Amino acid sequence: MQITKITPFILHVPVTNDSISDSTHTIASWGIVGVMIETDNGIKGYGFTGTHAHLPGDRLITSCISECYAPLLIGEDPINGTMLWFKLNRNPSMQWIGRQGITQLALAAVDTALWDIRAKAAGLPLWKLLGGATKEKLEAYNTDIGWLSIPIEQLIAGAKKTIEEEGFCSIKLKVGSPDPQTDVLRIQKVREAIGPNVKLAIDGNGRWDLPTCMRFCRQVEQYNIFWFEEPLWYDDVQGHKRLCNATTIPIALGEQLYTLDAFQSFLGEDAVHYVQPDITRLGGITEFIWVADAALAKRLPVAAHAGEMGQVHVHLSYWHPACTIMEYIPWIKECFEEPISIVDGYFNLPQLPGASTTPAKGVMEKYGVKV
Ligand code: MG
Repeated sequence: MQITKITPFILHVPVTNDSISDSTHTIASWGIVGVMIETDNGIKGYGFTGTHAHLPGDRLITSCISECYAPLLIGEDPINGTMLWFKLNRNPSMQWIGRQGITQLALAAVDTALWDIRAKAAGLPLWKLLGGATKEKLEAYNTDIGWLSIPIEQLIAGAKKTIEEEGFCSIKLKVGSPDPQTDVLRIQKVREAIGPNVKLAIDGNGRWDLPTCMRFCRQVEQYNIFWFEEPLWYDDVQGHKRLCNATTIPIALGEQLYTLDAFQSFLGEDAVHYVQPDITRLGGITEFIWVADAALAKRLPVAAHAGEMGQVHVHLSYWHPACTIMEYIPWIKECFEEPISIVDGYFNLPQLPGASTTPAKGVMEKYGVKV
């Protein structure tokens, strides 16, 4: 099998409620910036990264795919995925301008498309190609009810609805407000509304400093917080280590880390409890697996971050033994031939051959933006 054609694409898909905010970002659409890779036997592989639908940035990613990576891939056998990952990532010209950021987001799309081809060629869903499911059920937690932009009454009603009517047993609330007392009150009210048994995680998106986090954690420890995600600036290993030692709340992070080495820094310093890799930032499925293996070696749970929002993380989380609970955000589920689906708070296991990244009919026309 040979790679014959590489076609990048950009989709911009509206988010829930016109726009959402966390402590750091406000967005109206989610960007699916990806690539279709065609082969001489007719198989088409699809992969993508996730963005804030910032068109100039999205076009830097598609330009990297078509200008830098495509010439290195045409004529290659897509079955040699690990070799191709190194050919792209360790290419001297790419190393000089990359290793993190745009080049890594572009690699994520390409690597995912190559895995999609391999699974389709084998006639297997990705989780089966990798070695089969290691768990019977994969729990989902709902992030979409907990944005910082949701007023408190609506927040409480949404939390109750997703638990009582939709069957979720786990939710996540955004924190990181200018006045932390606002977030203490939101957590208190939601915990009172949902009862003691629902898993309640919080996510600061890197907004606060260490003293603020230390004071805040002391106030909310009483509400049985499942984890505090990205409490501090994303790359601050020593700060997270100090917070891990200062609170009983487990610390989660990883969605902003681009490399295995970045994860190793946190793992080596015992500065994280829940490891949150994301294929869209990590150079794809290949490097996600290395990170999950590193977490497994430390006997730490992996909770995949849903920057991908499709099924790839479902495949990986059902397969990899370190993966536990996983994030659910529904924004782009209608975009795929085999959409992500949940019953009573658990992900369904994908069944079609591939990585479930094939776009649904008409999606390119509906959400496509000129590359
Ligand atoms: Mg997060």
